[in-house]
Amino acid sequence: MTPRRVAAWQLVLAAAPVIITVYYLLVRADLAPGVQVALYVSANAAFAIAATVTAVRRPAMRTIMLLLAASGAAGVIGDVLFYFEALVHGEAPYPGLPDLFYLLVYPLMAVGLLLIVRRRTPGWDSASVIDAAIVAIGAGYLVFQFLIVPLVDFGDKFTSLVSVAYPVGDLMLIVVGARLMLGAGPRTTALRLIGANLVLGLVTDAIYGFQTQAGTYQAGNFLDAFWILASFCAAAGVLHPSAIKMISASSTATPDATPGRLAILAIAAITAPTSIVIQHHTGGEEHVVAAAVVCNLLFLLVMLRMAGLVQAQRHAAVTDGLTGLRSRRFFEQALGNQGERSVKNGVPVSVLLLDIDHFKSVNDTYGHNGGDRVLVEVTHRLRELVRPGDVVARYGGEEFAVLLPDTGAEQAGEIAERIRRGVSAAPIAVDESRLLTVTVSVGIAGMPAAGTTDELVLAADRALYAAKNAGRNRVAGAAASTVPAAA
Ligand code: GH3
Ligand code: MG
Ligand code: MG
Repeated sequence: MTPRRVAAWQLVLAAAPVIITVYYLLVRADLAPGVQVALYVSANAAFAIAATVTAVRRPAMRTIMLLLAASGAAGVIGDVLFYFEALVHGEAPYPGLPDLFYLLVYPLMAVGLLLIVRRRTPGWDSASVIDAAIVAIGAGYLVFQFLIVPLVDFGDKFTSLVSVAYPVGDLMLIVVGARLMLGAGPRTTALRLIGANLVLGLVTDAIYGFQTQAGTYQAGNFLDAFWILASFCAAAGVLHPSAIKMISASSTATPDATPGRLAILAIAAITAPTSIVIQHHTGGEEHVVAAAVVCNLLFLLVMLRMAGLVQAQRHAAVTDGLTGLRSRRFFEQALGNQGERSVKNGVPVSVLLLDIDHFKSVNDTYGHNGGDRVLVEVTHRLRELVRPGDVVARYGGEEFAVLLPDTGAEQAGEIAERIRRGVSAAPIAVDESRLLTVTVSVGIAGMPAAGTTDELVLAADRALYAAKNAGRNRVAGAAASTVPAAA
């Protein structure tokens, strides 16, 4: 047995607790400040190096990884400058040069993550945009009330501007992070590690904000552990083999409304109203207008999301999942409407029922997936072969129904024959290497020949049965009355 190699991302994750422990031992003992700084800086450095390595190894992610690496590097430069000032002069000036680099971390990271979102979510994916907006607005209100407002009058104008820029940067990452984590696409370990980085970083930034406002912050307190851990999570994330999957386009646009997602949305939606109630009762500063605007926005977004869900539900009820064709239910409703029109105005309406011949043996030979591929390809062909306005539905497993409004028996017979020939005109690729020609049998019936829509469906079914009995690959019924299979 070959020994299992430890992956780079595992090494990086394992290094985090070791580095944090040694860091705190040195801080407690007030020993080797240079080593303390080096250990602290190693976290951002690990992220910058890991992202650079991935940029080299995975050309498809180069721009994204270089942006993330630049974000990590900006953190390293900020740390080095900060500790250099602190160690040499006893205190780093605030605001100072380190802040420029610390603040660069946010936009670089945000743009990198946005590029990931763009790659993995084709199209607009409005449902998760709304979800992300709900989370961003809920969290944004908290950031505004507790981190931004108190900092507006923090020292002189420039100092407050720099101070406010930090929570604004956090807000930027909340918006982009929510979009990334709540959007469509595979939820891989790499993505989870980057999510852990964002959550840890944002929570730590928030606590730091509270502590500096309350005057309780002390360099070297527990927050450093979280900042270090956050960067190591990001480093492990970009090194993880699943990192490349972060940019693979998702096939399903709208993620499901899972309990976890609903819980996150519910919490986000009640933050602003809850916080204003707490502020009111504790005599804190109330931002009534801001809270009202936020509540209204959240209401509108929730309504919008509900409207989207109702619409999706409606769509799902009338659409077949495998082929995207209309469902049997939709077909029956449409037939009911056409039947009424036919009775009232005397216009003809015809129906074709199609059944793939010997489909069981397709499944037996090529497996259920092979069978499904045949169904999807037959669907494509049916769509090409009917006229605009005709309704193609998946009537059952491998049975299709076509509703032909304003169509008499003769024309219906021609369309049925065109479909029969068209489906079998070219072989279908059942898998990578095998081709198969399938045929269909078609039964036709129409109104007014049939008195009611129920009779019409029965007649079409009987015609289909007759076509099968007569040897398959043929059209039977009303006008066609068992047309012999043409070559
Ligand atoms: P016939 O020519 O008489 O129609 O023969 P047949 O083998 O096609 O018989 P029948 O129409 O009864 O076959 C239905 C088969 O279709 C049975 C079922 O396993 C298969 N089937 C039904 N739904 C699906 C599906 O969604 N996917 C796949 N792959 N197979 C399906
Ligand atoms: Mg069948
Ligand atoms: Mg069949």
